[in-house]
Amino acid sequence: MTAPGKLRVVVIGAGAAGLCAARHIAACPESFAPPVVFEASGRVGGTWVYTEETGQSPDGLPIHSSMYRDLRTNLPKEVMAFPDFPFDPSLPSFLHHSDVLAYLESYADHFCVREHIRFSWLVDAVSPAEGPEGGWDVTTCRAQDRTVQVTERFDAVIVCSGHYSDPFIPAIPGLETFPGRLLHSHEYRGPEPFAGRTVVLLGAGPSGVDLTLQLAPVAQRVILSHRQPPLPPLPGNVLQAMPAVAVAGDTVQFGDGAEHRADVLILCTGYRYPLPLPGARPPGPADHGPHGDAAVSQICPFPHFHCQLLFCLAVLRGACRLPSAAARQAAAEGELRQHLAAGGAPRHFHQLGRRQWGYCQELARLGGFEPLPPVVRKLYEATQASRRQDVSSYRSLNYRVLSAEEWALVGADPGG
Ligand code: FAD
Repeated sequence: MTAPGKLRVVVIGAGAAGLCAARHIAACPESFAPPVVFEASGRVGGTWVYTEETGQSPDGLPIHSSMYRDLRTNLPKEVMAFPDFPFDPSLPSFLHHSDVLAYLESYADHFCVREHIRFSWLVDAVSPAEGPEGGWDVTTCRAQDRTVQVTERFDAVIVCSGHYSDPFIPAIPGLETFPGRLLHSHEYRGPEPFAGRTVVLLGAGPSGVDLTLQLAPVAQRVILSHRQPPLPPLPGNVLQAMPAVAVAGDTVQFGDGAEHRADVLILCTGYRYPLPLPGARPPGPADHGPHGDAAVSQICPFPHFHCQLLFCLAVLRGACRLPSAAARQAAAEGELRQHLAAGGAPRHFHQLGRRQWGYCQELARLGGFEPLPPVVRKLYEATQASRRQDVSSYRSLNYRVLSAEEWALVGADPGG
């Protein structure tokens, strides 16, 4: 039985965002009942739970994680950490994925989050509750036995289900006829199966570039097809090509008329964000584009989750009032118009990039919590710059954030 006046909040997913949500809800017992977290898998960590399997897990659920075996983070741990829980200082700045999973597990233990998680429970549907009290009806089932459904009512739902699980497949004429091996980066685990082959990768986002660097030492030739300006030096057997426009047999045709034969085609084309929970969130004006565009990207994920969650809880507690739905809608439409007028593609509206800092600062101001320390932005931008200079070696750098005492010793201002 929940004490009157305490909000019952449900969290969907126990990845980094869900753990952060549960930790902060539990820290506010005067306003919230203990959180209920539904996690479809048997573990915390979400995308950081590496598995060699692809396709479906033994319990019949699609494999959630897109981690590959040798993945190292593309942000240093000093930027990745939640502001209230640093990584082990003895670790290098750029981590193997297993170190990030260990970090999330120790975050869950440190803040006693596990006791709130119902593992192997899948949220099937979320719908607005009927009746004067409002709230949400959340329907769940056991991950291993989906025949029995349970519906519970909550005052608020926080969706932390991730958006890097459902591959986006571009509509390229002839793609379905490619006779070689065709896969999405979601299913890539390591370079060995591609030794001696000619591999075409479509897309030069973080995964496309990473896979290029992993494949180059073993493949005969790697062709990285993308629409960005040419990337800085890549290994000698890597060719950069325009976006692919068609596939005919084993030949890929590119935008400038070039053609290359391929044994393997890897789609590094991002993910769809299909709003799998009916009713969980009505589509907004800025929900453009086919894949992953309704969720923000180009951010520092964990610090960003921290700010969004604290803001969201401030709103739920009544410490911060949202403008009306109509005003929010109008503001979002205005921002979208500005973005389009500045030449931005609709599907890039949620790529925050440099806008993330003002956004997080505004959340902190409105929600009444500490803003992110300026060092996060500085290190993030330094990392982007060093990656632009040399994408092959930027991970060999190690950063160190000085303590306040050390700043005092060197006579400098940590925020300056
Ligand atoms: P997830 O980690 O995806 O967790 C979602 C959880 O929700 C999962 O456990 C899932 O089982 C559960 N779930 C989903 N649907 C349901 C449902 N219906 N019912 C119940 N449970 C459900 N970020 C960085 O900061 N640094 C990096 O270097 C970095 N590298 C990355 C590399 C790759 C290949 C990928 C894919 C992402 C990378 N990221 C990186 C981003 C990463 O996604 C975020 O850091 C973060 O882990 C996302 O956390 P999340 O909680 O939003 O989602």
